[in-house]
Amino acid sequence: MSKIGIAIHGGAGTIAKNLLTPEKEKAYRDALLTAIQQGEAILTKGGSSLDAVEASIQALENCPLFNAGKGAVFNAAGSHELDASIMCGHTKMAGAIGNATGIKNPISLARLVMEKTEHVYLSGPGANAFAEKMQVELMDESYFYDEFRYQQWQQALAEGRVQLDHAGLDEKKFGTVGAVALDKNGYLAAGTSTGGMTNKQFGRVGDSPIIGAGTYANDTTCALSCTGHGEYFIRAVVAYDIHCLMAYKGLSLAAACDEVVKNKLVNQGGEGGVIGMDQTGNAVLCFNTEGMYRAWLTPDGILQTAIN
Ligand code: ASP
Repeated sequence: MSKIGIAIHGGAGTIAKNLLTPEKEKAYRDALLTAIQQGEAILTKGGSSLDAVEASIQALENCPLFNAGKGAVFNAAGSHELDASIMCGHTKMAGAIGNATGIKNPISLARLVMEKTEHVYLSGPGANAFAEKMQVELMDESYFYDEFRYQQWQQALAEGRVQLDHAGLDEKKFGTVGAVALDKNGYLAAGTSTGGMTNKQFGRVGDSPIIGAGTYANDTTCALSCTGHGEYFIRAVVAYDIHCLMAYKGLSLAAACDEVVKNKLVNQGGEGGVIGMDQTGNAVLCFNTEGMYRAWLTPDGILQTAIN
């Protein structure tokens, strides 16, 4: 029987210390802790890594602090387009949705794509039609409305720029959420969910729903979930690249993450981070930004949260 492991993230970026008041920091840490506890409880009871990943991500999607589900940022058309993906490291099956609207928990819809269709990726109206067919919970626009996010969008609109963060304009923060887990059977799983970028062009898809870029899992190596400037992560095929360094070159998870995030991505100008989990239940949380909202289960069974 395997040792269990879990790690989650709530986005990476330049998290300005002056804007992170003690109250805000506590709110983020509490939210991360609540989310990781959901997944850990499932794993402790012998549940699957897929269930744990889904439960932790659902908790983050339901929290307005993070850019996924309820907290998703505004796109250029003033609406919210949701991207998510999930992958099982045991079966190598994967499911993803892109540009879906009104979905309460995009990660669960991605999982349904994996389990109930012969496809990997459904997008736009097709993803929404599938959501209706599966009778997943749908929310109207008002559920996703957040005054702070709206003001961010207005600022980005006025400046005619696409904003990669979901905080003030002086902060660069990627608020995507993700989780990786190892269950008692030794099965790995990874998932990622996001609203993308503030003021992003209608129809834009980032790395989060792209298997191999923002999410990847393979029991022979690791499970990975990324956050950062999606276009760079797609071009660098970040998650699969980390897997390949382990599979073909025998690197450890930590060394592979360092190579891709702190060397390759930095050289290409890509900001962000990744969380990874290997077969020993060892969590790696690696980023080339100032901080990353994160939580993980330590080898001695303690849940830790960190930001900077
Ligand atoms: N990677 C996401 C995207 O480009 C953004 C993020 O991580 O916050 O859509």
